[in-house]
Amino acid sequence: VQVAHAVLRPESHCCGTCLQPLFLRKDEPLHGIASGGYQHSLDRRMLTALHAIPGVPQAMRYTLEAIGDKAARILFMSEAIECGDDQFPELLELVDKAKWRLDLDIEPRLFLGESPHMNALTTGVGQPIIVVRSALLDQMDDDAVLAILGHELGHLHANHPLYMSVARALLQGGLATSALVRLLSLPIQRALLRWLRYAELTADRAALLASRDITCCVRMMLTFAGGNRPGTAERTRMRVAPFIRQCRELAGMQLRNGVDGMLGSYLAADRTHPFVAVRVVELIQWVEHGSYLDILAGDYPRRSAARRRRACRRQDEQA
Ligand SMILES: [Zn+2]
Repeated sequence: VQVAHAVLRPESHCCGTCLQPLFLRKDEPLHGIASGGYQHSLDRRMLTALHAIPGVPQAMRYTLEAIGDKAARILFMSEAIECGDDQFPELLELVDKAKWRLDLDIEPRLFLGESPHMNALTTGVGQPIIVVRSALLDQMDDDAVLAILGHELGHLHANHPLYMSVARALLQGGLATSALVRLLSLPIQRALLRWLRYAELTADRAALLASRDITCCVRMMLTFAGGNRPGTAERTRMRVAPFIRQCRELAGMQLRNGVDGMLGSYLAADRTHPFVAVRVVELIQWVEHGSYLDILAGDYPRRSAARRRRACRRQDEQA
């Protein structure tokens, strides 16, 4: 199977012997996929390290469930519109479609909030919330919004909101201290920010697994980079292929030239999200590596197996 061809048209590939399809079709769900099946390796490594900080995740989970979730619900009920069967059900349908394809049984509350900035966010530990900003709906079509909702569901699936809160608390705690402590804790803050960026790459893979359309996912990032307001859309038709070429050129420059690489890292160091070009290249490399097609072919870890492994590990630790 040629990866590039199969990624663009997975439904056209069948087994030469039994004629069964080799890959899931667009509207077929995955079955119990564990988030580890698509988690970026550096996201996984950093999450393991965060999890190992004694007591912090447990304390944060308790605090977030008791106070944070409630505060978020009150905030978004106050300033945004909750979607339901009789209020913007179209957006809810897109969430359901993304959940169906990813096979997730998470039940987030969905809000639409007004903003001129294209953005969506996920929060909540016990009662998750997804907020979609109105500018996204102005500038993106349903397929792209579905991919974005897949991205947000990926954050929930990988348990990111809890650790993102831990990371933000540690980052803000660091900022509130004296200049000396701030300086000494700089490597930790940088490491946390680096993890936040890797968590986004995991969520981008969930976006692709929900969308099943790599062109749509890259176009979505192209829109984040250049916008799609009427003035832009009427004057130019933005194309995916030259944008991918640009992103690859940048990645090549940074790989070949140490100074370019260092400059890229320096410019990204204080960001919670990776640059769009990095996200495009990372997603394409994951696809080219074959991992995406492996998942569509049914080769991925399942939640039940992952749960069993965690239980065994806990028993081993207790022993
Ligand atoms: Zn994200």
